[in-house]
Order: sequence, then C-alpha cells, then structure tokens
Amino acid sequence: MSKFIPLSVPNLKGNELKYVTKAVETEWVSTGGPYVNDFEKNVAEYVKAKGAVSCQNGTSGLHIALLLCGVTRDDEVIVPTLTFIAAVNPVRYIGAEPIFMDCDDSLTMDADKLDEFCREECILIDGKLISHKTNKHIKVVLVVHVFGNMADMERIMQIAKQYNLIVVEDATEAIGTYYTKGKYNGKFAGTIGTIGVFSFNGNKIITTGGGGMIVSEDKELLKKAKHLTTQAKSDELYYTHDEIGYNYRMTNLQAALGLAQLEQLEGFIKTKEENYNLYRNKIQEIKGLTILDFRADIRSNHWFYALHCDENYPLSRDEIIRYLALKGIQSRPIWGLINDQEPYIGSQVYKIEKAKYFWERVVNIPCSTNLTKKDALYVIECLKNAV
Ligand SMILES: *Cc1c(COP(=O)(O)O)cnc(C)c1O
Repeated sequence: MSKFIPLSVPNLKGNELKYVTKAVETEWVSTGGPYVNDFEKNVAEYVKAKGAVSCQNGTSGLHIALLLCGVTRDDEVIVPTLTFIAAVNPVRYIGAEPIFMDCDDSLTMDADKLDEFCREECILIDGKLISHKTNKHIKVVLVVHVFGNMADMERIMQIAKQYNLIVVEDATEAIGTYYTKGKYNGKFAGTIGTIGVFSFNGNKIITTGGGGMIVSEDKELLKKAKHLTTQAKSDELYYTHDEIGYNYRMTNLQAALGLAQLEQLEGFIKTKEENYNLYRNKIQEIKGLTILDFRADIRSNHWFYALHCDENYPLSRDEIIRYLALKGIQSRPIWGLINDQEPYIGSQVYKIEKAKYFWERVVNIPCSTNLTKKDALYVIECLKNAV
C-alpha cells in the first residue's frame, strides 16, 4: 500500500473499547446513561470550571451559549472571520447578525480592532452597545481560540467590560490550553469568558465521534444549559415544558469514548508539542517557510500546526497542497474567510486585512497524535526537496 499521512485523525488506543463495551453491555446507550454525568464532571474538573453540560457537538453548544446570553433576532454578535463556519452559524440559527472582525498575528481576534470598532462605530446607551450603522444592540463577542492558541483574553475581557459585551469562548479547538503567566495564570481556555464551549469532533484533540461541552462559572447558567439541551422539561413525570428546548444532550456511548479520551489528553498534548517542535525547528531552516508560533504566555494544546509560506518558497500555497498530496501527505489551506461565504456575503465587516493575508499563505500539515517522528521527518524532507 502506498504511503498516506492524514491531516488529523482519532487515536483510540486507551480504554475506549472497554468503556463503550460496558455501555453496550449495560444497555445504557442513550442520554440517560451514567457516563454522561461522569464525563461532564471530569471535563469540569480538568479545566477547573464550576460545572459542565454536555451537547451533541460544539455547534449545538455554541447555539445554546448564545441563547443563554439572551441573543435574539434583533441583536448582533461580533465574531472572527478567520475560523470554522460552525463558530458563526449559530448566530444565524437565532436570526441574529454577525459582525466580522479581523485576526492578528496569532490568528485569533485582533483586540486592537475590536477596541477601535467599539469606540468608533458604536455608542453605549443605557449600558447597551449600539451600532451606529444598524442601531442594533451588540450583545456578545464570540472569541475563537484558533488551532489551540489562546486569544488575547486579558485585553478582550477588559474591552468587553468597558462596552458591556458578554464574552463567549469558542474553545472547540483548545481544550487543555491555559495561561501560564499574567492575570489569568492557570486559567484554561473556555473558563475566562461567561461561557466556553468545547468540541469532541473526530478531528479535535480528543473525540467522542461527535460531541461538545458547555462550561461556565455561573451555576444558574449551567442549570439553564441543561434545561435547554434536554427539551426544556420542567416536570419529568408529567412532561410539562416551559419553553422551546432542544434535543442536544450527549449519549452514553459518546461519553464512554470521551471518558477514555480525557484520560489520555495530557499525553496527546505532549505528543503534539513534541511533533510541533520537531516541525518548527527543521522547517525554519527552509527558506520561505515557517511554522506559526503559539502565544508565549500559555501552555497550548498544540492542536493544529500552521505552515506559513512566503514568496521565497518555490511553491505557492495551492502548489504545496498538490505536491504534498502526490507524496501521500494530506494538508489543507486554512478556512475560507467566513465573510466571503455565500450566506454571509453582504454581512458587516470591520477592516479585514490580516485574515486575508493568512488565508493566502497558511497550510495545515499532519498533526495527529499518532503521527510518528518518522512520518513528521518525511513531511519535512518533502517540503525541503520541493522545487
Ligand atoms: C470544530 C469547531 C466547531 C464545531 O464543533 P463541532 O463539534 O464540529 O460541531 C466550532 N468552531 C470551531 C472553531 C471549530 O473548530
């Protein structure tokens, strides 16, 4: 068989089979099973949050998060343009409108531009941030911790406070990332804003096949999250419902996988970091290529590696992807900017510059936790020998 090195695939060599088997043997496969509560508890403990509420996936978690913030169809939400579209679609599920913000060199939301936008394009009236252009209330800023890097939460939280914005953290890519310095030293991605959301999709650092988790420091919010994700039942026996709920709770089968994956997360991060350092050190010797850094004041989970190519490298972004594919190596460009996607053409944008720059120059290269050193070295060799 010819060589194939995938971009990012699951690694299920721990207790996955054992726990899933137990779920099947006990016939607890639905949302009622005990593993769901255990997984919630363990995730909350791991990220040092007050509590956690499971969901079917990260997207449904973000949907619930925005509902919990009170976002309605009359509101607007500030979002990044350089991210996966699942971060933004929940805004539209509610009928609200996004305002697209640029990234900085960390690939996460540019705090300077966020500040400038709030100051120059909006006005605070009765504690509400109102857009000059649309007269609408901007209630939430949704921050994404891209590739396992941390957005500049210190600045963003301070700006949010000043302009009365609720902060939702899309930490779907960043479970395990935490600050090691500064005001938020020891704080995990997802636990700094009002609500954080994780994803356990198949390509994330740990997976439940599909799955997600909402975390918060606010017990009331968590209670409401559980209520909304379980059909908003106000009485279990008589099936009375006090609002429109959702069938978003995780199943016991998913949670069984999750428990086994969480046991291995620190080991996965270690592997990701080692492979990252190997790539980074060798690739910086190749003219025109670099691997983008993670912030210096965090312990990143090193989920995805961003290969940056400039005009000194003989191949363009698309040529790199085609060339690597011929060598049996899967890679992909960073996401197309969300404000360029069909459903968002004409949406509000604010000074998008860097996102466009990185979109043209960044390629993600294999980063699975079961990537061997030998395979990583092969990827590096191919990049070195490309002409
Ligand atoms: C994966 C991801 C999501 C969605 O998570 P799912 O579990 O796939 O629904 C949302 N936002 C970002 C940035 C993601 O990478």
